[in-house]
Amino acid sequence: MSKQKKLADYKEEIEQCVKCGACQAHCPVFAENKKESVVARGKVALAHALLEQEVELDERMIADMSQCLLCGSCFDKCPNLVPTDEIIAAARREITEKHGLTTFGKGLTTVLKHPRLMSALAKSGKAFSWLLFKQVPEKSGLHLRFPAPFVSQDRTIPAIAAKPFRERHPEFIPGDRDKPTVAFFTGCMVNHMYPQIGEAVLKSLRFLGMNVLIPHEQGCCGLPAVSAGDGATVEELAERNRQAFSRREPDVILTACASCNVGMGKHFKELGPEFEKLGSRVKDINVFLVEQGLVEKLAALPKKEPSERVTYHDPCHLRTQKITREPRALLQASPGVRYIEMEGADRCCGLGGTFSVYHYDTSKKIGARKAPGIAESKADLVASACPGCMMQLQDTINHAGLEQRVIHVLELVARDLETD
Ligand code: SF4
Ligand code: SF4
Repeated sequence: MSKQKKLADYKEEIEQCVKCGACQAHCPVFAENKKESVVARGKVALAHALLEQEVELDERMIADMSQCLLCGSCFDKCPNLVPTDEIIAAARREITEKHGLTTFGKGLTTVLKHPRLMSALAKSGKAFSWLLFKQVPEKSGLHLRFPAPFVSQDRTIPAIAAKPFRERHPEFIPGDRDKPTVAFFTGCMVNHMYPQIGEAVLKSLRFLGMNVLIPHEQGCCGLPAVSAGDGATVEELAERNRQAFSRREPDVILTACASCNVGMGKHFKELGPEFEKLGSRVKDINVFLVEQGLVEKLAALPKKEPSERVTYHDPCHLRTQKITREPRALLQASPGVRYIEMEGADRCCGLGGTFSVYHYDTSKKIGARKAPGIAESKADLVASACPGCMMQLQDTINHAGLEQRVIHVLELVARDLETD
């Protein structure tokens, strides 16, 4: 039996919507297409009509429910705390139950459920990358050489890692005896596309003397399956991760990806008390490092002339949890970084998981709104704390003809740390 709530289980919350429209001003999708049916208020009204059997779960409903990044901005601003993102996710699960997964959804969740298949595909992609991809422009990612389903040829994608991050390291890396054991949840993008972020996380934790656990059997955080409406896959991944992270009972499970933090820390917790322990130990790496005094330790490092102007983009999945100060504090304390705040740092990048696959044109338009702020900041580097945002921001920068390179906060933080 499914552990997840049905749409009908949200009836009370749906009825708490007073149609004030406070969510409208914060919805990145509404800002582009101005349709009431895409804003949270409209979707909650559609969900209500569905429960009252006034409308069918038809093509129009499917199209409207797919127009959402699950960014959480509407919930963040809702005076009545209507859990709009959960209601939309529940509606998507009902759609999947009735109509099945889309072709893309089927392919995606098959790969998510089978980490070895994901690794095999990544290795094949790497082996044939000379044939599949071209480097455009230099240093800023790849474009597909040939048309392919679901990925636009003008989309910038990161290179696949020669060796996945988790295969480079043992499961347990001992630190100081008096320091806690922390686990690192890598997420799929760090493992296969941005292993340098994983190396930076590891370096930062080793600098602090932490004992580090990197369970090799961990799986995806489940957020892409939440987005696709595949409740069964979310449950399977939650169970895989519950088992992977229960063996050594680490004090904390760290994420360097804002979306993984929400998948592991919020959506898995919704599955019931047996997942409470897993979700409640999940912590964003920026928050953890600040708590452990890394800002002060960075500030005490030998000073050097700031060589790079760096700005920061707030991932929605951290901003809506009020995690905005910590990544900035780490950047500002890092030697060699001249920090500059940009206009619209808190504006959504437009990725939204499967949203950017189904609605790439809208996704690009949402992303394009970031370009003036990035350009005016005159930064050399745009830092963020989410590999998904990083991919989308580099795509936006390339489309806008800008020069900036996107980087993870931890890459800048770790480069001046000395470890054994
Ligand atoms: S802000 Fe909340 S209560 Fe107001 S319309 Fe949006 S969902 Fe409804
Ligand atoms: S989660 Fe984001 S994209 Fe979806 S309705 Fe709310 S504000 Fe709009």
